[in-house]
Amino acid sequence: MAETLLDKVWRAHEVRTLPSGQTQLFIGLHLIHEVTSPQAFQMIREAGLPVRFPDRTFATIDHIVPTASQLRPFTDTLAEEMTVHLVRNCEDFGIPLFDLESGRQGIVHIIGPELGLTQPGITIACGDSHTSTHGALGALAFGIGTSQVRDVLATQCLAIAKPKLRQILIEGKLPAGVYAKDVILAIIQRLGVKGGVGYAYEYAGSAVEAMSMEERLTICNMSIEGGARVGYMSPDETTFDYLKGRPFAPQGEAFERAVAWWKSMATEPGASFDDMVEFDGGALQPMVTWGINPGQSVGVGDDIPHPADAPEADRDTWEEALSFMSFEPGRPIEATPIDVAFIGSCTNARISDLRAAAEVARGRKVAEGVRALVVPGSQAVAKAAEAEGLDEVFKEAGFDWRMAGCSMCLGMNEDKLKGREVCASSSNRNFKGRQGSPTGRTLLMSPAMVAAAAVAGEVTDVREMLR
Ligand code: SF4
Repeated sequence: MAETLLDKVWRAHEVRTLPSGQTQLFIGLHLIHEVTSPQAFQMIREAGLPVRFPDRTFATIDHIVPTASQLRPFTDTLAEEMTVHLVRNCEDFGIPLFDLESGRQGIVHIIGPELGLTQPGITIACGDSHTSTHGALGALAFGIGTSQVRDVLATQCLAIAKPKLRQILIEGKLPAGVYAKDVILAIIQRLGVKGGVGYAYEYAGSAVEAMSMEERLTICNMSIEGGARVGYMSPDETTFDYLKGRPFAPQGEAFERAVAWWKSMATEPGASFDDMVEFDGGALQPMVTWGINPGQSVGVGDDIPHPADAPEADRDTWEEALSFMSFEPGRPIEATPIDVAFIGSCTNARISDLRAAAEVARGRKVAEGVRALVVPGSQAVAKAAEAEGLDEVFKEAGFDWRMAGCSMCLGMNEDKLKGREVCASSSNRNFKGRQGSPTGRTLLMSPAMVAAAAVAGEVTDVREMLR
């Protein structure tokens, strides 16, 4: 019988069925960072346990790291304290750490694939919701909480129920100015922020096949925003080409052997799914969120919807969102003024994202009164962008060029919204308070759309600037 990647990878990692009915699942790769690991380390210290597989555990520093100056000690004393803890825990337990001196530091979901740690057919866990990102390479990757970080540190296993599987087919050719971010926002808009609860999402179809690995990473990254803890694509030649030569990928003959095994893990033609949905990629337009969850979005040419048009169950949230955002239903989302433009995060801070945004910024100026920043997802992305002169393009346009980190994706470092500011953001969450101000307002969109909003000073259709 034809099998899915989910079935094959699950079976390959299943240790046993627990009395709870959950699976004890072996985790091939554990990625940790400074925010969700300190308590977990404390718990295993108290229990007198070692880290079971330190060579399958890798650490980076991303959430709290400042992006304007990374000189130590950080002026943010909490950031400094968390960094010191992570360094000590990694030293004590023998875990490799990609610190600021390594040249490999960056957002955990950017550096895993970039270094070739993320590989097809493996299981991955990380104490961050957006771990689903790694599924783009054909891995099963789970975002976990602090107590599960403890479990994985101590046992390299997770107790977890196997999800159902929904295949999401994205067919057709994306129009110019429509990016992977628009695809995933459109998917979440249609299926809802809870539509994927209990499911893994398998993305397939001609549009996915045509995507670069970086575009695929953007799609899988936001699976969790649609409720699906896991999102993945079957590995193919794009995956293998991406991995070839990366520092932690198998090299030489071992790479060829790995490719053969990776191919064998792909979903087979004729495999069955618990559910299937299809999207016409050719019919999509650039998307913008108007509310307080990533499902509340419209095409840039559309109006902010009226709560009366909401599904019954969503009506209250729509009203709450409009009230929080101070937006009027029926008004076009286009021309909404912005105060801040943020290009960054594990969703959209890879080199192709920066190239797309730079294409818009080149030869233009950030609108007066707009605070605009570009934060590369990793030191390697920063280096590549600087080698291409993208940093100069952004700086000449009036953007602030920063150092790698999570930055304004969340309010855990110095980069924060102030008061009621409206931020055009390439990140993944527009929850109330997410960007550091309890009253700040976030409009999610693609990096190119953020660049367009930065220079226009308002939400604008990037397609007009690409002509
Ligand atoms: S960029 Fe945002 S979503 Fe991604 S790991 Fe950092 S805080 Fe989490």
